[in-house]
Amino acid sequence: MQKEDLFESEDFRRCADFHGHICPGLSIGYRAAKVGMDSLKEKRALDEEIVAIVENNACGTDAVQVLTGCTFGKGNFIFKDHGKQAFTFMGRNTGQGVRVALKPDALKPDDRHHELMDKIREGSATKDEQEEFQTIHLQRAKEILGKTAGDLFTIQWVNTGLPPKAKIEPSIPCDRCGEPTMASRLVPKNTQKLCKDCASEGRRS
Ligand SMILES: [Zn+2]
Ligand SMILES: [Zn+2]
Repeated sequence: MQKEDLFESEDFRRCADFHGHICPGLSIGYRAAKVGMDSLKEKRALDEEIVAIVENNACGTDAVQVLTGCTFGKGNFIFKDHGKQAFTFMGRNTGQGVRVALKPDALKPDDRHHELMDKIREGSATKDEQEEFQTIHLQRAKEILGKTAGDLFTIQWVNTGLPPKAKIEPSIPCDRCGEPTMASRLVPKNTQKLCKDCASEGRRS
């Protein structure tokens, strides 16, 4: 498929709508989720619940949520703060799945892109520089859509097992602020049981 096709595709548009903009990170997550879901479909029953494990919390994870239907709220979207562009998709029943990780040389570094990104972050970019940044940013997003899966990712079958399903547990009021809090998240302090905010006195002190 040509990159124009993917860029114009209905599912990429849905990811961009959900995320709020088009960026290289979104393209990476989009491609990773497609590769992961396609790989699983070859091996698994379609109706089996999918679990997604993302190793970063950047732009691409929004595409993963849209394409897999795995969401934070359903508990089948798991964030590991490893700072890697790596995504694992697995079947709930077996814990077998596929890990899709961005290759180190998948994308050519672009010094100008980084330079402009820094300027924008600092708030020192001129209007021309902002426009130049947007052009490069969009170009890189399209470039990722145009590459082959093999150029972008290392794809490995994994069997790491699944984290246990979230348990429903009763809430108990925090002894300080009174807000109902999952019992397992209360922190004992002296004779009291406090929510994490109160325990660290970061709030309502
Ligand atoms: Zn983004
Ligand atoms: Zn509290």
